Amino acid sequence: MRVTFATEPASPDRPNEDFIAATPDAVVLLDGAGTPAGSESGCSHGVAWYARTLGSTLIASLTQSAGTLTEILAEGIKTTTSLHDFTCDVNHPGSPSATVVMLRRTGEVLDFLVLADSVLVLDVIGTEDPMVITDDREGQIGKRYRTAMDALDSGALDHTAALRAYVEAMRAHRNRDGGFWIASSNPLAAEQALTGTLPTDQIRAAALLSDGASRLVDRFHLATWRQALDVLAQDGPAALIRRVRDAEHSDPSGKRWPRGKSLDDATAAYIRIT
Ligand SMILES: [Zn+2]
Repeated sequence: MRVTFATEPASPDRPNEDFIAATPDAVVLLDGAGTPAGSESGCSHGVAWYARTLGSTLIASLTQSAGTLTEILAEGIKTTTSLHDFTCDVNHPGSPSATVVMLRRTGEVLDFLVLADSVLVLDVIGTEDPMVITDDREGQIGKRYRTAMDALDSGALDHTAALRAYVEAMRAHRNRDGGFWIASSNPLAAEQALTGTLPTDQIRAAALLSDGASRLVDRFHLATWRQALDVLAQDGPAALIRRVRDAEHSDPSGKRWPRGKSLDDATAAYIRIT
C-alpha cells in the first residue's frame, strides 16, 4: 500500500486530539473525544494522551499480531486502561475516549474496523459511488440534545456552556446498549465496531477521515465522497484539510452549518491499494 496523510489541530495553541499512524501494511486513525473546558473527566492525562497512547499501541500490535482487528482493539483498550487505572478514575463517565479506524493488508485481503464516527471510504473498482463505513449512532442520539447548542453563535460564551451540557448529556449513553460505542476503558466496545474483509484486487484506494475532515462532505455538503477521493488522489490529504478550513472560516459563527466546534482537529489519510 502507498500511504499519505495529514493532520492539523483546530488551533496551534491546543494539542491535536486526533492521532494517525501507518506502516506499509496498516493504518490507524483515532479521534479523541473531547472533555470540554470546565468538564470533569477523572483523568489527569487528557484526551490527546489517550488517543496517542491507544493509537501507538494499536499500530504496534498491527505489526506484531495476526489476531483479528476486534481482538487487537480490545487488547489495546485494556493495555491503555492499565497505564492509568492506578492514578485515574477510569470508570468516570467522562473518562477520555476515541473513535478508531483500522485498516490492514495481509497478502491478498484487506481487513477494516470502524468504531464510532470517524469515516472509512473505500474506492471499489467498477463502482461510481464509494463504499462509506461509519457508525453514526452517536450522531443519532445527539440530535436529541443539539438544539440549544446549534441555535447559538459558535463564538459566543454560552455556546461553550451549551457544548459542555451537550457532551455531559451524551455521557449517559456512552458504551451502553441502546447508546453509542467508543474506545475508552471498556474493551467490550471493540465488539461493537463495524468490521469487514475484502479482496485487495477489488479496492483501488481507501481514505480514513476524522469527522473534522469528513465534515466537508457529511456536514458542509461541499463535495461528494467521490470528489473527496479525487482531491485526495490528485492534491493529497493536506489539500482536503485546506478545503475544510476554508469552509469553516467562511462560516465562523456556525450560522450556515451549525456545529459543536467551529474548527475541529482534522485528519485525512489516503491509501493507494492497487
Ligand atoms: Zn489518566
